[in-house]
Amino acid sequence: MAERHCGDKPEKVVMVRYGELFLKSDPVKYHFIGLLLRNIRQALEAVGYTCRFESPRGRIFIFGDRPEEIAGIVSRVFGVVDTSVCTLVAAEPDALRDAGLALAQKNLHAPCRFAVRGKRQSKTGMNSQELGEYVGSAIYDAIPGLTVDLTHPDYELFVEARDCGGLVYDSRVPAPGGLPWGSQGKMLALLSSGIDSPVAAWLAMKRGCEVAYLHMDGGRWAGGDVRETAIENLRRLSLWCPGNPVQMVIANSEPFYDRMQELRIPPRFRCVLCKRFMLRAAGRLCGKEGAQAILTGENLGQVASQTLANLAVIADATTVPVLRPLITYDKAETITLARKIGTFMDKQGDLACRAVPKMPATAATLEAVRESEDKMGINGLLDTVLASVQYVTAENGKVPDKK
Ligand code: ATP
Ligand code: MG
Repeated sequence: MAERHCGDKPEKVVMVRYGELFLKSDPVKYHFIGLLLRNIRQALEAVGYTCRFESPRGRIFIFGDRPEEIAGIVSRVFGVVDTSVCTLVAAEPDALRDAGLALAQKNLHAPCRFAVRGKRQSKTGMNSQELGEYVGSAIYDAIPGLTVDLTHPDYELFVEARDCGGLVYDSRVPAPGGLPWGSQGKMLALLSSGIDSPVAAWLAMKRGCEVAYLHMDGGRWAGGDVRETAIENLRRLSLWCPGNPVQMVIANSEPFYDRMQELRIPPRFRCVLCKRFMLRAAGRLCGKEGAQAILTGENLGQVASQTLANLAVIADATTVPVLRPLITYDKAETITLARKIGTFMDKQGDLACRAVPKMPATAATLEAVRESEDKMGINGLLDTVLASVQYVTAENGKVPDKK
């Protein structure tokens, strides 16, 4: 940032903090910061904002017309820990004091316990604590009814004298953290109309993964709203990687269920067979999609197909690694997260699966399911189902076309 002098008109700037990237070696860190900057720029451009960026050591600064809105948008970018709208002044104690006092007079309402946190990069002049005390006493003198409380303050003001300028702020907008989207390769997520799989996909994105999607459309075996709800999940997930189209393959798996019925495959194996079929389809698509792992919303013990014994039998269907970020989550924890990230839908339509038996096997054996699959000619079925897939693309919360 251009050096600022006392008397310059204060300017607003959005300060972006990133966390874990600090732990990386320098080349990796710079690569990740480059990705983070790209993602931030894309998120802002997706809503029509053009901004100026600066990235001095350990922070990103964004200059633009609507700093509050910018902070809100950037607080949804993976890799960002939090953002603050700061007043930018000269990195001088008096300028910081004046700006700090002005902000406190606006937002601090006595009686109140308050703290001023100072930070100073330069080794000369006041140290960080002295700077905090200097600004704090000016506020204390100017506003009656205040108590200083450095341990449990109701109001915190931050003043930072950095090489690039003086910064004053009193709020931090929390962001998801994680790693920059696109820094960790690609996964193929099995996306359903349920609550779990969108949350699993979001968690993978949060750790930097690009995600492509596969939905198995059960046709008349699936509830009437399943397909559209899965597309709605995709649409909502696309809001988390703005500026990047996300694609979902939709495969018609009706022939699979029909074959199970025709051949009178024991209904208790249906759920395990169904999940194995999904993994087979996903495994085949991974190569085409450039994905290195399959992602599911499976969870230990949530439904009969998700006992540890069954999960082991299911995973045998593919050689591609199967990742299940929600394996240890309670349903309530998943729902809380789904609400927070905006994938939870209050209104649930007809999402029932018509193939679910009354008594699903909780410990299917590999021999039994393989025998059923041989009978069904599972590889031929897979060829049929994958021969005529459809594609749906979502971008920035919109599903422009359905091919
Ligand atoms: P809920 O969120 O209500 O549990 P669910 O879709 O997760 O619904 P499960 O039977 O628990 O239902 O499915 C386990 C996992 O299998 C899902 O998280 C998802 O990854 C995958 N899956 C289930 N149904 C489909 C489908 N029709 N297409 C693609 N993947 C699916
Ligand atoms: Mg589930």
